[in-house]
Amino acid sequence: MRVLIVEDEAKMAGLIRHGLEREGMAVDVTGNGEDALWKAEAVDYDAILLDLMLPGIDGLEVCRRLREAGVWSPILMLTARDAVRDRVAGLDRGADDYLTKPFSYAELLARLRALVRRGRPERPAELQVGSLRLDPATRQTWRDGKEIELSAKEFALLEIFMRQPGQILSRFQLLEHAWDYEYENRSNIVDSYVRFLREKIDRPFGIESIETVRGAGYRLREDGGQ
Ligand code: CA
Repeated sequence: MRVLIVEDEAKMAGLIRHGLEREGMAVDVTGNGEDALWKAEAVDYDAILLDLMLPGIDGLEVCRRLREAGVWSPILMLTARDAVRDRVAGLDRGADDYLTKPFSYAELLARLRALVRRGRPERPAELQVGSLRLDPATRQTWRDGKEIELSAKEFALLEIFMRQPGQILSRFQLLEHAWDYEYENRSNIVDSYVRFLREKIDRPFGIESIETVRGAGYRLREDGGQ
């Protein structure tokens, strides 16, 4: 297991490094964001420990740029206690977990192990299918860079489609993921909302991205309808 520690406080970085090395991990350390970006793109780290307060490019920006560059190593952020806004921003930019300083070493290890178990699947903070883009954190949607206003339910439905482009989704699956039990057995509500969605994300652009698959359900074309 190879871990990258990004921490500008040399003493803290050294302590963590020695601890992880005692567990048999290979550990690289850097104290600045630019170097972290370079290292993390060059090596497939099993985990990255990323302090948010760094000189120059800060941890949030490092996180955002790594995900943008297609680096999916699990990221554990280190933040100051009470910095709720930092933690939210970090998670929304693609970090996987956080630990507030001061932390217990046993917890650091447990969180690292849990992250490594999950592997490195792609998990972009923003979803993109063709010219459709959706940001689950800000709840914004764009087609060709033009923002589209969606209701909460329309947004929820589109998010399900965009997480599984090219897949046929049955009315039941869509209902199960976007509606609660109150709407059980009302599959026509799905048809209504698919219609609303088409009116907003497709029709104004002369596109048909959500296909009706007879007898099976609906499918968002993998190319987003280009
Ligand atoms: Ca720091």
